[in-house]
Amino acid sequence: MSQGGKMDLSNDKVIHIKNGNIEYLQFRKLLEYSDVISHCYSLGKNVNFRTSYKANETNKLNMVNVNNTSEYQKVISNYKNLCDNISLDYRDLVKGIQRHTNNVTSVYGKVNKDKPDFNMKEYENIDGLITNKKNIVLSTTSADCISLLFFDPVKKVIANVHSGWKGTLQRICIRTVKKMLNDFSCNPEDIIICICPSIRKCHFEVEETVKDMFLEEFQELGEENLRAIIEEKIPNRKWNIDTVLINKIILKNIGIKEENIIDSKICTVCNSEILHSYRAEKENYGLNTALIGLK
Ligand SMILES: [Zn+2]
Repeated sequence: MSQGGKMDLSNDKVIHIKNGNIEYLQFRKLLEYSDVISHCYSLGKNVNFRTSYKANETNKLNMVNVNNTSEYQKVISNYKNLCDNISLDYRDLVKGIQRHTNNVTSVYGKVNKDKPDFNMKEYENIDGLITNKKNIVLSTTSADCISLLFFDPVKKVIANVHSGWKGTLQRICIRTVKKMLNDFSCNPEDIIICICPSIRKCHFEVEETVKDMFLEEFQELGEENLRAIIEEKIPNRKWNIDTVLINKIILKNIGIKEENIIDSKICTVCNSEILHSYRAEKENYGLNTALIGLK
């Protein structure tokens, strides 16, 4: 049964694939390199990619590792189904313990041999992963936050980054590009960056304190850009912020070609029938995943 019914999120940048009960998005641009990489962004409300849960403050990681519960096994099987569909091996998966940081790390090998590297202390507080290795599949999860998929077709390097509003404020996308240059000698002109579904300006409404943080951090972008990024919805009370646009502008400013920044243009809140959304689902929200792997 199709989870989104007749829903089809395809547009000029992404294609909505329905294969039995598995649904996902793929970027048309990345499909041009399907001999080198596989990727997707999960769709569907009855699939969840949450590998851990917040627990009480006494737990050092503030997490409950749920590796042996049936809930966790279901998540693993969701990952396996998705990976099988795009010819990746779920045992190659690596996912950081995302904490809205701007910490990015390069992955040179798996920790576990026959199972995914989930909830690993090696990846604590990691919101961005880079690799040039085959047999490593990078995953990020989100429910309104932006996942960005990076691919350098020349150096054959990939990255997967979780950038919510806090990650965007801390410019995690820029740190990722710099690390790709530093660790793998990438050239910004070659890097393709795909912006997955996320909360968009239409729904990302903030209070004055958050608005001021953005205003201060991105002052350098100039008045015209700021007017496009921050919109006053209710005078002196509510502002809507375009975090996707911020990422696009700062990426362009460090030499990423405009035509290599590919935006899915999909809002998770507007499409919460088929996408997990924190704002729409509240505390029991599920997580979507973005996957990318070199073949
Ligand atoms: Zn929206």
